[in-house]
Amino acid sequence: MADESFPEIREAVRRLCARFPVAYWRELDRERTYPTEFVKALTEAGFLSVLIPEAYGGSGLGLRAAVAVLEEIHRAGANGAACHAQMYTMGTVLRHGSEAQKAAYLPKIASGELRLQAFGVTEPDAGTDTTRITTFARRKGDMYVVNGRKIWISRAEHSDLMVLLCRTSPRDEAAKPSDGMSVLLVDLREAVGRGLTIRPVRTMLNHATTELFFEDLEVPAANLIGEEGKGFRYILDGMNAERILIAAECLGDARFFIDRASRYARERVVFGRPIGENQGVQFPLARAYVQATSASLMIDAAASLFEAGQPCGAEANMAKLVASEASWFAADMCLQTHGGFGFAEEYDIERKFRETRLYQVAPISTNLILSHVATHVLGQPKSF
Ligand SMILES: Cc1cc2nc3c(=O)[nH]c(=O)nc-3n(C[C@H](O)[C@H](O)[C@H](O)COP(=O)(O)OP(=O)(O)OC[C@H]3O[C@@H](n4cnc5c(N)ncnc54)[C@H](O)[C@@H]3O)c2cc1C
Repeated sequence: MADESFPEIREAVRRLCARFPVAYWRELDRERTYPTEFVKALTEAGFLSVLIPEAYGGSGLGLRAAVAVLEEIHRAGANGAACHAQMYTMGTVLRHGSEAQKAAYLPKIASGELRLQAFGVTEPDAGTDTTRITTFARRKGDMYVVNGRKIWISRAEHSDLMVLLCRTSPRDEAAKPSDGMSVLLVDLREAVGRGLTIRPVRTMLNHATTELFFEDLEVPAANLIGEEGKGFRYILDGMNAERILIAAECLGDARFFIDRASRYARERVVFGRPIGENQGVQFPLARAYVQATSASLMIDAAASLFEAGQPCGAEANMAKLVASEASWFAADMCLQTHGGFGFAEEYDIERKFRETRLYQVAPISTNLILSHVATHVLGQPKSF
């Protein structure tokens, strides 16, 4: 089975997570604080650098190993969203950065000396239509001057660097709407207070997400990744890894809910028998397991294609869709199985329920995945 891959890594992640029990996450959730100690432990254990090649100080184990790490974190009741982007955001630098940029940043990201876990794409007035972003970087000598606004930029307060997508030519002057966007690597340590303001956005889950305001922020032109105007393509090709890894987190959540519900259904006695003896309780549990197992196979297939350097856009999207639906079905099933106790904070189900709901909206919503499959795989006419 796909969930038995990398047994040593899985066991090591389980041991690490056991040091950060659900009570730790419950407290952070209540206070909306960042899991600094957990992220530090994961970094020190090398789990966040599995995608960085050995030549740059990572372990270069590949995407299936990263899947195992994030799945186990989530199965333990923890939340990898605090730091999952440290694993894959560097991919933009790795694939499109100059040799000098790679040498300067990747070894420090691998060691954890530098945190690159902020990824600035979404804007309030553009939504999923990324070509409509208006945050603009104007070239001035050896600097870019950035003005604009971003929303939902997670972990910006807990990151040293940010991969920022902005326009370098207006949409209506570009040959195609997706041309004229560029990627800048922003040093947040220098930027905050000198043209960049970060404002936290409180949400239904503990996610350290923020709103960013750029007012004449100067970014050295040397921090441009790849060629000016080609940034959209660079961002797109990092998204497959992100979708597969988010799917792994959903799968871990689904397994958490199935583990919890199975145990509770065996132990909770009502009407003189365990509730699990009723098929009305058993069948949703079994269905959740079937869905999680299918998602696991889809994730493994997508990750294998990614590792082989094959096109995997459709598979990455489908893995994310089935896994986020499996985790949401499992969440609902687990809450229902627990009856009233599912709503009690101390059971951690309501927290995980809130956390896993996010993944049908971010990083890409279910509708947009269906649209991709309909038009790119099934040859249907585009609706937008
Ligand atoms: C907690 C959180 C963290 C996030 N972190 C980041 C981050 O770190 N960096 C970043 O850049 N972004 C981040 N995001 C943004 C996230 O990627 C977007 O919220 C997501 O892609 C959806 O975009 P939107 O919110 O603009 O929805 P919209 O694009 O406004 O869409 C709203 C709804 O309409 C539907 N819809 C829109 N157009 C169509 C269509 N043509 N056909 C059918 N349905 C359609 C969508 O499916 C969606 O359900 C985060 C969001 C959240 C909530």
